[in-house]
Amino acid sequence: MAETVGFIGLGIMGLPMARNLLRAGFPVVAWNRTTAKVALAEGVQPGLSPAEVAARSDVIVVCVTATRDVEAVIEGVDGVPGVLEGLRPGSVVIDMSTISPDVTRRLTTLVRERGGDYLDAPVSGGEQGAISGTLSIMVGGEAATLERARPVFEAMGQRITHCGPVGAGQTVKLCNQIAVCLNNLAMAEALVFCQQSGVDPAVMLEAISAGAAGSWQISNLGPKIVARDFAPGFKVALQQKDLRLALEAADALHVPLAGVSLVHQLFGVVEGRHGGDTGTQALVRALEALTGVDVGGAR
Ligand code: NAP
Repeated sequence: MAETVGFIGLGIMGLPMARNLLRAGFPVVAWNRTTAKVALAEGVQPGLSPAEVAARSDVIVVCVTATRDVEAVIEGVDGVPGVLEGLRPGSVVIDMSTISPDVTRRLTTLVRERGGDYLDAPVSGGEQGAISGTLSIMVGGEAATLERARPVFEAMGQRITHCGPVGAGQTVKLCNQIAVCLNNLAMAEALVFCQQSGVDPAVMLEAISAGAAGSWQISNLGPKIVARDFAPGFKVALQQKDLRLALEAADALHVPLAGVSLVHQLFGVVEGRHGGDTGTQALVRALEALTGVDVGGAR
């Protein structure tokens, strides 16, 4: 019989991921801080708290915003008992949020002290990848624990990579964010340059997406920019959280992340002008503010 999966955090990513687990035949018990969202995942059994979800589950998936939020749902906060309080020996906690590798190792120790095991398994592929069950999942932890959890991962993702011991999944995810944010800047520069040159940016995207410059950003975010659609698949505030994690880690390693520093500053402009809940394709708006050009606008 399929293991019962507890799911904590039904946001943009968590909700479709929980739906895919249900579709794959797993019984799912879910908890979300804003309780009303649980009803959106038709077929899940509502849990009363992270602790109660853990007490009813064999595998507990966490997908919340940031490091402190994962700490809150695992350790408990403000009278809401955390996963550790209900954890059954032999259960596996899988954190699919993007958070600090160091805190990941600390939480692993706490889970193991209570007889469970822990995998960090951040994802890439965006909201669309979560909906279609095609996420790339970067896993840190024991190989045997990953094998046990593999059917759970296969319900949500396509490429499942064992990156190394606990924390290695988060490190690889930060590498992903370094590459993603600089791809985003490259696309934004090409779009503003194209617009100012008087060539249709939609035509440019179509042409270059099939060549050496093709990327996930160009194919998925480029057309949204031309259509002036800045609704979030991935929010600027979350991208900034990830860039801060990468910059902090690089600082400790004495590794320069010059490009990431620049993108972090430009996203700061976007946050100031348009708010952190706008989608990451809005990076282009920092360049638009500098040039006075609107991509997709009148030429
Ligand atoms: P989101 O839509 O903002 O959802 C965040 C979820 O976390 C919500 O369910 C929220 O509950 C919950 N939450 C936040 N703080 C909490 C706390 N202190 N205690 C309990 N629950 C809390 O974010 P998302 O886009 O799904 O992202 C989730 C994670 O996936 C993040 O770490 C993000 O970096 C990562 N990620 C996102 C994408 C993407 O394209 N969106 C791609 C890859 C990875 P409420 O409903 O009550 O607010």
